[in-house]
Amino acid sequence: MSEQKYDLIIDGASVPTVDHFPVINPATGETVGLCPDATRDQLDSAVDAARAAHLKWKKVPDEERKAACLAIADAIDAHAEELALLVTLEQGKPLNGLGSRFELGGCAAWARYTAGLELPVEVIQDDEQGRVELHRHPVGVVGSITPWNWPLSIVMWHMLPAIRTGSGVVIKPSPLTPLSTIRLVEVINSVLPKGVVNVVSGGNELGQWMSEHPGINKMVFTGSSATGRKIMASSAATLKRLTLELGGNDAGIVLPDADPKAIVEGLFWGAFINNGQTCAALKRLYVPDTLHDAIAAELVAFASKIKVGNGLEEDTILGPVQNAMQFAKVKELVDDAVAHGATVLMGGNPDPDQPGYFYPVTILTDVTDGMRVVDEEQFGPVLPIIRYSSVEDALARANASENGLGGSVWSSDKAKARELALQLECGSAWINAHGMVQPNVPFGGVKSSGIGVEFGTEGLKEYTTVQSLFEG
Ligand code: NAD
Repeated sequence: MSEQKYDLIIDGASVPTVDHFPVINPATGETVGLCPDATRDQLDSAVDAARAAHLKWKKVPDEERKAACLAIADAIDAHAEELALLVTLEQGKPLNGLGSRFELGGCAAWARYTAGLELPVEVIQDDEQGRVELHRHPVGVVGSITPWNWPLSIVMWHMLPAIRTGSGVVIKPSPLTPLSTIRLVEVINSVLPKGVVNVVSGGNELGQWMSEHPGINKMVFTGSSATGRKIMASSAATLKRLTLELGGNDAGIVLPDADPKAIVEGLFWGAFINNGQTCAALKRLYVPDTLHDAIAAELVAFASKIKVGNGLEEDTILGPVQNAMQFAKVKELVDDAVAHGATVLMGGNPDPDQPGYFYPVTILTDVTDGMRVVDEEQFGPVLPIIRYSSVEDALARANASENGLGGSVWSSDKAKARELALQLECGSAWINAHGMVQPNVPFGGVKSSGIGVEFGTEGLKEYTTVQSLFEG
């Protein structure tokens, strides 16, 4: 139990607030620390600081911004263990496996990769009629709003392109996992000019104030599709640029020629990484009648070896669900499926006497499209296995979703898998894998899963405005 009060970070300084709210450890229910609750005036100060910093930062030589990204990576490496511990305490994920140490490793890797990206001036025309060049300028002040599932990865994904291209940033972390972001920004501010990165924390209305704020030029948001719609609406009056990375309900289709033993590990981690609380996790698994029993049995055997527990224990592989609301949603969707005829092959029935939000790894069969656990994003440790008879039918059902973040095809025949993967309506399609993201590959959703992409040169461009320069 810690009553440590955290501060906002504005213009390179710690700024206390009058009000705070507790941040809860989802494994124990104890308070991890007290999060500062920013006022509207404090948001204004953060936006002003980001603007002033941007006006200087955009003028430094590009090499300085590259060097800053590399210095950020080194600073993160030097504080990785401390930050990983804080992520585990407030988010719940384990220190080990695909948990908080893995997350911190990704943060440093993304910073190093972003240092090497280039957006050179493009010469569009150069002839007797004149010369036309395409220049890219930093967008100005970027507002970043993050969710609670991968708190540090996502805030890095939001701020690195802004830092690299010369903008200033104001970050609002999720009220459920704000402390690691505050500490991360303290750490990276040791190598950045003051005001380039600022953190204000608070409730959902702070996010709305940011989306409406006339001093912010672009919003980058990762979270649910419902909130994405609200941000888009609030940003309309000031015509902000938007990158929206929203919810997913990714389908995986196993083809009849797949080898259940060979694919089980990939299927399991595709679905259960971060306890299923991952935007691009496998959330609906379509399997042919002929392989249904074998795949279900392999998944149960694999899942039975996974230790669920407090993430601070070094041998824990999956932690608790992050918060009470998400726990209730997962329970509701499983209970609804069971009431409509689903079979719980393993899991279900969380222990009501256990402290924390622990929900067992759950695998469901006798599930059909139309049940809520298939049609809605469960965002928890539950995988519904859905039978199909014809591949065309499986493809139609996979695509019959308002979401379109990721999708996967599992097969021993790569050519057949490619053909089907290219017909999935989603921003990323994987063959014999699910959910992998890389700093050099654009990532984003189609349909209600988002607007725009992050990562790589395509992602960097979204943090710039285009200016065409004509020389007569
Ligand atoms: P959420 O939408 O509830 O909250 C995300 C953030 O938005 C929080 O910081 C919250 O305070 C803020 N917010 C809430 N209402 C707001 C408003 N009206 N205006 C501005 N900001 C507001 O999402 P969550 O529960 O934290 O995260 C889970 C969701 O995020 C899932 O749907 C998941 O699929 C999605 N997600 C998507 C990606 C992706 O890259 N596509 C990645 C991770 C998570």
